[in-house]
Amino acid sequence: MDALLKLQQTTPFSFLEKVDSARSPLKAPPDGITRSEYRRRFGEKNAAVTTDCRALPIYHSALPGGRRAPLLKAMITTTCERRCHYCAFHPSTNIPRIQFTADEMASIFMQLFESGRVHGLFLSSGITNGGANAQNIILDTAHILRHRYAFRGYLHLKIMPGAEIGQVLQAMRLADRVSVNLEAPSAHRLKILAPKKQFGEELLQPLQWIEQLRLSQIPETSFHNRWPSSSTQFVVGASGESDLEILQASQHLFTHLKLARIYYQAFSPQPGTPFENLPPEQPSREHHLYQASILLKQYNFDVEELPFDASGNLPETSDPKLALARNTLAEDPVEINHAPLEHLLRIPGIGPTGAMSILKARKTGALNDLSQLTRLGIFAERAAPFILLDGQRPSYQMKLL
Ligand code: SF4
Repeated sequence: MDALLKLQQTTPFSFLEKVDSARSPLKAPPDGITRSEYRRRFGEKNAAVTTDCRALPIYHSALPGGRRAPLLKAMITTTCERRCHYCAFHPSTNIPRIQFTADEMASIFMQLFESGRVHGLFLSSGITNGGANAQNIILDTAHILRHRYAFRGYLHLKIMPGAEIGQVLQAMRLADRVSVNLEAPSAHRLKILAPKKQFGEELLQPLQWIEQLRLSQIPETSFHNRWPSSSTQFVVGASGESDLEILQASQHLFTHLKLARIYYQAFSPQPGTPFENLPPEQPSREHHLYQASILLKQYNFDVEELPFDASGNLPETSDPKLALARNTLAEDPVEINHAPLEHLLRIPGIGPTGAMSILKARKTGALNDLSQLTRLGIFAERAAPFILLDGQRPSYQMKLL
């Protein structure tokens, strides 16, 4: 079968992974998803930006450093022995079972790269004959790309459940990013989603290896003379897990294993899988998890201070930072002219850059007007209900509260 046709038939992979954007769920549609399917999953508003439905799993994704670029998200094989209950590649689903050799995958990617269709590759695989076998084919493909084709662009390699530490090191020497999908925040939750995966041994341990190797090995042995970043993904809403469980796990991963990104994938039932009759998770839950994740990673919030309800879930209708400010700052506003950095970061509308700008501006005089905050790049009207300027509450539109 023609390699492009085979790639088109791996498209269900697109439904398992997510475009790399916390703030806007999908800026551009993945190739290969029909307009109606896209509308069903992501809503009318996002469907309106669908302009191109070529049947290839190409996503516009944010790369480390923030640049957005089209990536081919490819599978070595769509056959898998792990039988994860949520996955479109579960053996019970009615999808074509495709297998690429390393040579084929490297060659088809280079054709797409040289024609300008894609700038990088995210390579994963189903598992046949064990995770180490699947990992070898991924590594062979990466090796061909780097050394036969001298490809220097973006390469994201998935670490397979069951991969060995030597394979993880090889992947780190070839890739810009490596990832292990934990899928669930604990072994107990993973058993519900994927009873054939071992949480500690097969998923958490490779993430620990990645950080240990970054600390103990010299990066000069890697392709770009620097170690790749690492990431993971959680499936949200299919195992009864709470937001608190997911975010506690996220904080651990950011703090101790130095993950660059965590992806939250709202569960969507796939036809033919054991979970096909479960209800889909709301995209808004996924969105609030991304917002909370940014608070943990970039704003240094502690997970315990986030506004969880008695079930351990974030508010459904408000972003977590705003909900927290309503609870804690509405009656006890922050004095912009004296507050330390960590207090400024808790004010809605003020991010790390804005908070640093306030600290700098305060050295040259008092801030006593919302327009001064606006000039510093702050969403002043959003911050207004929660601040004092020189001891005074600024005037603001009540509808914002
Ligand atoms: S390991 Fe699980 S999630 Fe990954 S392809 Fe196989 S069945 Fe799907």
